[in-house]
Amino acid sequence: MMGDLEQKIIAMDLWHLALPVVSARDHGIGRVEGSCEIVVLRLVAEGGAEGFGEASPWAVFTGTPEASYAALDRYLRPLVIGRRVGDRVAIMDEAARAVAHCTEAKAALDSALLDLAGRISNLPVWALLGGKCRDTIPLSCSIANPDFDADIALMERLRADGVGLIKLKTGFRDHAFDIMRLELIARDFPEFRVRVDYNQGLEIDEAVPRVLDVAQFQPDFIEQPVRAHHFELMARLRGLTDVPLLADESVYGPEDMVRAAHEGICDGVSIKIMKSGGLTRAQTVARIAAAHGLMAYGGDMFEAGLAHLAGTHMIAATPEITLGCEFYQASYFLNEDILETPFRVEAGQVIVPDGPGLGARADPEKLEHYAVRRSG
Ligand SMILES: [Mg+2]
Repeated sequence: MMGDLEQKIIAMDLWHLALPVVSARDHGIGRVEGSCEIVVLRLVAEGGAEGFGEASPWAVFTGTPEASYAALDRYLRPLVIGRRVGDRVAIMDEAARAVAHCTEAKAALDSALLDLAGRISNLPVWALLGGKCRDTIPLSCSIANPDFDADIALMERLRADGVGLIKLKTGFRDHAFDIMRLELIARDFPEFRVRVDYNQGLEIDEAVPRVLDVAQFQPDFIEQPVRAHHFELMARLRGLTDVPLLADESVYGPEDMVRAAHEGICDGVSIKIMKSGGLTRAQTVARIAAAHGLMAYGGDMFEAGLAHLAGTHMIAATPEITLGCEFYQASYFLNEDILETPFRVEAGQVIVPDGPGLGARADPEKLEHYAVRRSG
């Protein structure tokens, strides 16, 4: 079996896609509307097997699709072509030093290498990451439409679909709008467990009173109320309320997690493969958090199904991530996902795939249809 993983990687293809979305979404630091842009990576091995990965950047948060594309096309491609399929950790170690940041590109590469190795060895990616601790993951859907009437219709659909978790995006309009929405949700949608995410939206002088107001609604947690670099303010806010405070933009990889834990800025962390720069590094963030007694949540970016699958396998293999996941975009945000077979969500649970590799492939026709740029 190992002999198969000795085979060389002979091709890397890239697509920069613009995927139309069904609505605008406002977050504290910016808006997405019209389309979201991702980069899809395909590796091909000597025997013809393929592995897929997705980079899902957001310019105001992690970086740009142009940077992800360039990182893969120019700086990471030479580390991959001609290498053995089984050399994943060596390739990722070199990738970390070949180009700074560009964590979404590295996540795509890690995912594609795992998908390829899984396809060849007939194992799911979760098995390559150490095994599986769960078969399903509770799904959270974000409530972030500037048109709240449309979000009320979405919440009615989510309730009918059996989704039990929602995350209200706050801090992009005025405080009264946030409180009005929390009151309406508590009154008309008591079935939902509610989380709140500011995406850094609060200014320094307004953070304390607004977080205390929102905490009165007893959400499961309040995520990243202030700017990523405001570690001291995060720590102060954490001390003012018994509602758990989550770090998202403040923590990318394991190194940030160590600092966040030492400085006491959070009770938990949103873990995303697009921030950590790969699936193994995401697992490391979760283990550092747990070692410090901190909770972990499976966050995501504006992703399509390939990235959802990579995150799903990572969480399936990471018992420390206990707060569910937010892989809702393929089902509730994109006009059309890019997978050949749909990303599976049933009764509010993401289903962990058991097939080889990621468990589904990108549809070649959709890649060509939505491509704004490609190379191979
Ligand atoms: Mg967040």
